[in-house]
Amino acid sequence: MPVTANENMSRKRSRKRKVGDDDTDNLHSQQHPLAAASIRGLDYNVVRMLQGNNDDFAVEVGGMMDSFSSPAAVVGQSSTSSFSSGAPTFRANQEESTDVTNDPLVKMFQSFRLNQEQRPLKIVRSSYQYLYDTTNSEYLDCVNSVSHVGHCHPAVVKAAAASMERDPSITGMDIDHGEMKYPDKLRQTLPHYLDTFLFCNSGSEAVDLALQLSTLHTGGTDAVVTDNAFHGSIGSVHHLSPKVFKANNMTKADWVHILAMPDLYRGQYQHGDPEAVHKYLSDARQVIESITQSGRKLACFIAEPMLVVPGMVIPSAAWLQEIYKMVREAGGLCIADEVQAGLGRVGSHFWSFQAQGVGPDILIIGKNIGNGYPMALVATSREIAAVLGDRIKEYGCSRMMDAVGCAVLEVLQEEHLMTAAMSVGKYLREQLTILQHKHDYIGDVRGLGLMVGLEVVWSKESKRPAREVAEHIIYKMKEENVILACEGYNRNILMMMPPMCFTRDNVVHLVQQLDKVLSELPRHCYPVEGSAPVFCPPVVHQSTVSEGRLGILQPQEEEDEEDQLASRENLEGPKHNYQDLD
Ligand code: PMP
Repeated sequence: MPVTANENMSRKRSRKRKVGDDDTDNLHSQQHPLAAASIRGLDYNVVRMLQGNNDDFAVEVGGMMDSFSSPAAVVGQSSTSSFSSGAPTFRANQEESTDVTNDPLVKMFQSFRLNQEQRPLKIVRSSYQYLYDTTNSEYLDCVNSVSHVGHCHPAVVKAAAASMERDPSITGMDIDHGEMKYPDKLRQTLPHYLDTFLFCNSGSEAVDLALQLSTLHTGGTDAVVTDNAFHGSIGSVHHLSPKVFKANNMTKADWVHILAMPDLYRGQYQHGDPEAVHKYLSDARQVIESITQSGRKLACFIAEPMLVVPGMVIPSAAWLQEIYKMVREAGGLCIADEVQAGLGRVGSHFWSFQAQGVGPDILIIGKNIGNGYPMALVATSREIAAVLGDRIKEYGCSRMMDAVGCAVLEVLQEEHLMTAAMSVGKYLREQLTILQHKHDYIGDVRGLGLMVGLEVVWSKESKRPAREVAEHIIYKMKEENVILACEGYNRNILMMMPPMCFTRDNVVHLVQQLDKVLSELPRHCYPVEGSAPVFCPPVVHQSTVSEGRLGILQPQEEEDEEDQLASRENLEGPKHNYQDLD
């Protein structure tokens, strides 16, 4: 689709932002290194990044080339595929035949997977909530929360570029960096006791540091996490990420203890059971008490205050508050991971832990604070940070972090993005709920602020997770130039975590396209009851692909050089010029 087809969408861009027309945006976003960094994070379908010369880059967005080695496997035909044990089989309910290969829905899935493998999307530049491919076609980005205030936001690019031109990067010697503004600005958003900031380059590094702090401070060894959580995938941290170690079929470390997510839609205790939250809490108490009973010592509980990565499960405040109490009684520290939900995304509060009425001992803040520039930090009390001794110097704020961090906070404030997150997010959930009444494939719509999860199921009644349908929707939406992603243990939850500049018009467009895609799905298809457990088993992947941090599948083969050059030659617009940013 040529860019003109979506021009209307571009014109309806956000409220107060002074961003001129698309050409102006091109100047800001074209080929800047920050653009590459900003298409990461919740980018479930980014499958390959091709780094060219210093300012060209290409990202292929596509994916879903995962676990299924054959078309039959796509629909879980039980005896032949890597997805064999217990995966749902289904049929059109008008037909008695069990030969699923003739089912129209099966055929659709087969062709979509082939298409997907052959026509991956190549993103070469970005601007606010829009991505552009090698043909300059425009895509609405509904998933990249890392680009918090918008891809390549000119104010952030300008701050970063100016700092890069001016500031030294010095390590290993004590120098006076001059006054940093960022720590003070950030402090104003936090409870007073979180007064010490330790700067890192990634969320994973910050989680690793939080783990060190908690073990040093408490003398404990053990950690409690929520099921299917993701807190990073580096060596020390992947143990805290059931999502990672389960996907890799690794054994859980004996010092890690898992609490069930209080998922009232799909979990063990559900809506309709007035005691559900109490039951989750009582199970959690057993897990936490068993640590001391077995002669071990708890160091920490780490969780997202809103369980975004595990499938946008918003726990009741009572659940989280009670867990914090239990953890402290057992001598542990409470760590809140705000990599996804922080920085105003929940709309009502700046931090999601505030919306839950808890006060963490340690806070993890991730890449959205740099709008994609790799910065993260641990915020904690002086007392806890003191356990690092002299090592504390290793976690200083660099001049560039200072510049970028300030720019992001200023944009958030000047463009009223927190208020917008609340109203646009509410509108999105309302519109999706209307769609839910129309389509049996939508089992649940949930979220808070500008973060929404939509459970795709085979039918509302069975609630059976429909991963294949979710993938199909994502693919078809991509064809409509809308980028979505799926998450959750069953990979059937459509996630919507767009940049915060997402508008009501964007919502209208997204929902219209989703309605269209869902309406085109063959009706009356459902899994054969009893053919699969609600929770599907872990999927075994082919050896030609590797699973990324959030289940991203990354083909290992390289595009040949000629194709890369052709992609770059197709880029339109002038070269980036810093003066354009004034
Ligand atoms: N915690 C959560 C909740 C995350 O989603 C992520 C990844 N975005 C991380 C930690 C790790 O962050 P990073 O990718 O910066 O290492």
